[in-house]
Amino acid sequence: MIYENISLKKYNTFGLNVKADRLIPFKHEENVISFLRQQGGSEQSLFVIGQGSNLLFTGDFHGTLIHPEMEGITLEGRKDDVVIISSGAGVLWDKLVESTINNGFGGLENLSLIPGSVGAAPVQNIGAYGVEVRNTIERVRAVSLENGSVREFTNDECQFGYRSSIFKGELKGKYLITKVYFRLSTRPKLSLEYGSLREEVSKLGSVSLKNVREIVINTRKSKLPDPAILGNAGSFFKNPAVSESLAEELKKKDPQLPVFNNDSGEVKIPAGRLIELCGWKGRRIGDAGVHDRQALVLVNFGRATGKEIFDLSEKIKESVFEKFGIMLESEVEIL
Ligand SMILES: Cc1cc2nc3c(=O)[nH]c(=O)nc-3n(C[C@H](O)[C@H](O)[C@H](O)COP(=O)(O)OP(=O)(O)OC[C@H]3O[C@@H](n4cnc5c(N)ncnc54)[C@H](O)[C@@H]3O)c2cc1C
Repeated sequence: MIYENISLKKYNTFGLNVKADRLIPFKHEENVISFLRQQGGSEQSLFVIGQGSNLLFTGDFHGTLIHPEMEGITLEGRKDDVVIISSGAGVLWDKLVESTINNGFGGLENLSLIPGSVGAAPVQNIGAYGVEVRNTIERVRAVSLENGSVREFTNDECQFGYRSSIFKGELKGKYLITKVYFRLSTRPKLSLEYGSLREEVSKLGSVSLKNVREIVINTRKSKLPDPAILGNAGSFFKNPAVSESLAEELKKKDPQLPVFNNDSGEVKIPAGRLIELCGWKGRRIGDAGVHDRQALVLVNFGRATGKEIFDLSEKIKESVFEKFGIMLESEVEIL
């Protein structure tokens, strides 16, 4: 089925009513392969779209969107307490998390309720509550958009970093991920160091996968706007990494500023706090705004265009740069 001149309103969580020339859903890897072989690399403007929860369309999309709908969660192997699970790219991320937890397999619990599809998870190495998906990815199966050839990437080959991977870097726009393999555990070491996670989970009685999931879900629901009600794409900017000396200076201006040391001797600063200190929290220009509980999230109050949201993001970047000398980088992909 090929949809032509299709509205993307239900394919992007900002709820923008833009159009695409074509959108083609694929349920099976072999069908994508034969489609791409027929194209023979001739179509320049192919783009893979999952649930559109990390995208900002600033206008109509002139080209072909490929929408992976590969289903299926499979137990591929089990040895001692290690299990290998595979999931089709079209499975909703949180369905996978829920299913693994129901089976007693740990590793993904902190990543509960992140919107989007499984196929997109490796692209920006999704992360939350002190855990990144790279910790559990065994390998990634993908099809070249240029010639339809299949390649499997090991965890190392994915070149994961903070909200990045080879699929967002060197091979950006070159592969369609069809399946992801995860290495999970029946005796997981839970990661509870983030914020008050351990304390909150203990309040529920036992420290179990289900209780971690419940706390993560409740916390997310209390902090982040639901895209079904208020259009947004989660964190709009990445948290910047700065030198220790700059972090010290910033701390003098704002003693409350939370800072996190990373492995490479740099310090991670919460972009939301910088935006807040520039006075943007809860502000609105027309129907584009900054969320009143989390300044890192830009929202569409209903009739904002993608261009208006983009313009707001640029204004925020300018004022953060003026005040702190830090240039924020978008986490959301702008099209
Ligand atoms: C309310 C909210 C909260 C969020 N919280 C978090 C969070 O805590 N942590 C976090 O990391 N992210 C978060 N996000 C961002 C988003 O959920 C993730 O980036 C998610 O992985 C995007 O999935 P998607 O299917 O919507 O991808 P899309 O937005 O459709 O696409 C994102 C990118 O991935 C590519 N892509 C998608 N599918 C494939 C595929 N099968 N093969 C190859 N490339 C593909 C696209 O081309 C694009 O480059 C949040 C978003 C929202 C709306």
